[in-house]
Amino acid sequence: MLPELTEPQIRRYARHIVLAEIGGLGQSRLIAARVLVVGAGGLGAPLLQYLAAAGVGTLGVIDDDSVDLSNLQRQVIHRTEDIGATKAASAKRALQAVNPEVRVETYEERLTAENAERLIAGYDIVADGSDNFATRYLLNDTCHRLRRTLVAAAILRFDGQISTYKAWQGAGHPCLRCLFPVAPSEDAVPSCAQAGVLGSLAGTLGALQATEVVKEILGVGRSLSGRLVMYDALAGAFDEMAIAKRPDCPTCGAR
Ligand SMILES: [Zn+2]
Repeated sequence: MLPELTEPQIRRYARHIVLAEIGGLGQSRLIAARVLVVGAGGLGAPLLQYLAAAGVGTLGVIDDDSVDLSNLQRQVIHRTEDIGATKAASAKRALQAVNPEVRVETYEERLTAENAERLIAGYDIVADGSDNFATRYLLNDTCHRLRRTLVAAAILRFDGQISTYKAWQGAGHPCLRCLFPVAPSEDAVPSCAQAGVLGSLAGTLGALQATEVVKEILGVGRSLSGRLVMYDALAGAFDEMAIAKRPDCPTCGAR
C-alpha cells in the first residue's frame, strides 16, 4: 500500500510528478522505498544528497569513518565544522536539512561478513560507494544471496565506472564476479589517497548512481544490468562495454 501524497509533498516533488515516467504513483514509490548506501564519502555524498532530495523515504548510511580535512575536496555533504564528527552523523545532519521527511538510519560500523546480511536485509536496493575491493565483493555476494539490486560505482584519478548487478533475475543479468571472478589484492590497485581523484568526478559518478537507483525503484528506462559504463573525465567521454554472465561464475553461475 503506497502512501497518499500530502499537499506539501505535491509541491516539493512537482518536477518529478509532472514527468510521465514518475507521476504521483512513482513519487509514492520513491517515498516508500528503502535504500542502503555503503560509504558516506566521495560517491556517497552526492548520491545521498540526490536520493534525499528525491524523497526516497528511508536511507540507510553505513560508514565507520570520521570527517577529515582531506575529505572536503569532494565529499560535499560534510562541512569544515564537521571535521572530527562521524561521517554517518554528518551525513544525517546534511540530509535532514535537505529533506526532513526522509528517515535516515545510520550504522557507524564497517560492513563485514558477520553483519552484511543483517544490514542489507532491511533494504530494497543497495548502492555501493565504498573504496575497497573486500567491501565490493562482499556486497556483490550478499546482495545476490538476498536478491537485492546493487548499483555499484568506483572512481580513481580522472576515471569512473558504474554498473547495476541483479544476477538473481537470471539470464542476461551478470554479477561483479562475472566481470572479475576474484577480487584483486588491495595493493594491486592504488587508492584515491595514493593516486588522487578529481573532486567533481565523485559528483558525476555519485549522481549517476542516484539516477540508476531511482530508475530501479521505478522500473523505468534501460537498466545498467549487463553493462559497465565508463567515464573518462580528461577525454570528456563516456564509453560502455557489455558484461556477459559466466556459467561458471562462483557467485551467480548455475551449479
Ligand atoms: Zn556472476
